[in-house]
Formats: sequence, C-alpha cells, structure tokens
Amino acid sequence: MPDPFLPFALPEIGDEEIAEVVDSLRSGWITTGPKTRRFEEDFGAYLGGNVECIAVNSATAGLHLALEALGLGPGDEVIVPTHTFTATAEVVRYLGADPVFVDVDPGSYCIDPVLVRKAITAKTRLLLPVHFAGLSCDMSALCSIAKEYGLEIVEDAAHAFPTRCGGRLIGQFDTAATVFSFYANKTIATGEGGMLVTQRPDVAKRSRIMRLHGIDRDAFNRFTSKTPAWYYEVVAPGFKYNMSDIAASLGLQQLRKIDRFQARREELAHRYDRGLSGLPLRAAPRPSDHASTHAWHLYVVQVLPSARLDRDALIQGLYDLGIGCSVHYVPLHRQPYWRDRYKLRPQQFPVSDELYRRCVSLPLYTRMSDSDVDRVVAALHHLLG
Ligand SMILES: *Cc1c(COP(=O)(O)O)cnc(C)c1O
Repeated sequence: MPDPFLPFALPEIGDEEIAEVVDSLRSGWITTGPKTRRFEEDFGAYLGGNVECIAVNSATAGLHLALEALGLGPGDEVIVPTHTFTATAEVVRYLGADPVFVDVDPGSYCIDPVLVRKAITAKTRLLLPVHFAGLSCDMSALCSIAKEYGLEIVEDAAHAFPTRCGGRLIGQFDTAATVFSFYANKTIATGEGGMLVTQRPDVAKRSRIMRLHGIDRDAFNRFTSKTPAWYYEVVAPGFKYNMSDIAASLGLQQLRKIDRFQARREELAHRYDRGLSGLPLRAAPRPSDHASTHAWHLYVVQVLPSARLDRDALIQGLYDLGIGCSVHYVPLHRQPYWRDRYKLRPQQFPVSDELYRRCVSLPLYTRMSDSDVDRVVAALHHLLG
C-alpha cells in the first residue's frame, strides 16, 4: 500500500473550534457580534501593550483599511518587497498609489533595509515590509529609516503570528499598523480572516468606520445597546470588510492553542534541519538571536546548484512520491501586471530572483507527525542523495 498523499498544508481544527462555531450558529448571531469583539480583545491581550485590534474578513482587507486610514492616494509611493504575495502590493493600487519594489536580504528573505533607503524618493509615504515565512524583518533598521525620513510603516504580518524580534512580539512595535492573516493555511485559521492591530487612535477609528460601509458604529452597538438604536450615519463610502462571528469562533479557539502550535512548528522545523543536513539544500533561515521567535508559517529550502535535480524536477519528484510542496513566491517582478506596469526586470532583484528559481516550501503544519517529516526527509535523500 502506498502512503497516502501528504498535503502541503492543513489547518488543525479541533472539537473546541467546532463547538464554538455550533454555539454561534445556535445563538442566532452569525455576523459581527459578541464573539468578534471577544476575539479582538483576546488577540490584543495576547499581544499585550496598548494595542487596538480590528477584526476583518482578510489580511488584504486589513492592509487596505490601514493604508486608507493613513490617507494614501495617487502620487504616493509605498516601498514593498518583491518577494511576497500580490496582496501586499495590490492594496497600494486600490488607493491609486504606486508600489516601489525592493529586493530582499539573502540571509532572512525579508526586505533589505539598505535597499529600502536607496528606494526612497520625495514621493515615498510608507514602508510595507513582510515578515517572510514568519521570521521578522530587521525592525530596528526599518524603524530608524522611517523616523529619519518621516515615513509611516504598515507591517504585512500575514506569516508572523507569533513572531518576536528582539524580545517584542510583532504587533507591539511602534508602527502605524500591523496586519495578520487567518487564511486557511496560516498559523491560526478562521477560513478567511485577518486582524488589523494599531496603537494609533486615528487609524483605529477610521478603520472601524471603513470596515463596515463607512457607518460609525457596528451592528453589535446598533442592535444590542439598551435603547433601540436604529439611527446611524454614513460618513464615507466604506467597505464590507467585517469579520463574522462564525469566523471569530474559530479564531477564539485557535488563539488559545497558538503557543502549542508555534512550539510544534518549531519542533518540526528543527527535525527538518537535522534530517536535511548533508543534502545539497540550503536550510530555512532561522532567527539570528535568542530574543527572536520564528512563527514557522513556512519552511523554505533552496536547491543548491550542485544538486542533481533542479527545483522544478524536485517538486515533481516529491509529488510522484505523494508529497505536496509549494513555491513562495513567484516574485512580483515576474508577475505580468507588476512587471509590465512598472517595467521590472529580474536583474533588478538578483536575490529574490535566485531564491525564486531555487526555493521549495516543504509541508509544515501542526497535524504532521514526526514520521511525516521523516518521510519527506527520506524522499529528499532518495531524490538528491
Ligand atoms: C496570505 C497573505 C496575505 C493575504 O492574506 P489574506 O488573509 O488571504 O487576505 C498577504 N500577504 C502575505 C505575505 C500573505 O502570505
């Protein structure tokens, strides 16, 4: 009997999540309501410090709201890494502004602060770094550049829950906003969902209004306050970005498990590290000091030139052995829309382009057993050894 297919990613949904969702369904409150509010409070309590959390139906929505709240518009430039998912840059275009693409650091695969500095022009308004794979960007370098040039920072933390940089959780830094994703394959999953985290009252207020049609109170306030509050005011053409209590039910219970999830992902990553040593692969980057924590959303290896298979052949070989993999990412400078609109060439982004040609994301999720990792390791030894 061949082994069953080992997928690239799977969420871990337990009885607790199922019971919480059923409770919402039975309660009759299935849109934004008490559980969304509780999820926001619990998420803020986990991050600690004086943060406001605004639950949304995707990280993309959260990024859009944060940029809108900061007044980004046509003529503005936003510095983004090329090595990311298209959502990071597309929200800039939603507002008519332009992303400026920057290469990544070969050590961390996160945006390179030296190149960020070189990309700043008179039009630059904002830095939009990505904590790639769950390893933090160089926050002290980015924060000091932002301060020096008077720029805002919005963090794409879709991979970065929970990530620490110099002892501080991502979400606690003094940036304009940090946005987490709870998409199906992220470190906690609500199916679709995200969280905008901010310490800035102006960003929080505007985002809450724009999250739901530009109405300045949400349904919870409208329908549950003591007086029958049927009156509301529309102050802007807002969006439909609110989180449902069904999704928040998942989030509430996933959040309670996050430390166990992170520890398990780290354990699996270390098992890969040990198993893959000696192969013509470059192991996944790891934190440079003990005060940093890797969320281990992804385990990305690079196929070295000395390997007997190239990246594409390796992924095919793993697939034929019943193992799912992925590639993070086809960089934005290679995507037709971004490439053509901004006349981008691979030579402008040598680190990202080389990474793209060599990278494979191996399966990494809490439901994997040690022997699942061993099976992937054995397959890699078989194909490359
Ligand atoms: C997943 C992801 C997003 C988008 O998250 P959604 O919740 O699906 O909108 C944004 N940026 C990065 C880097 C991602 O991986």
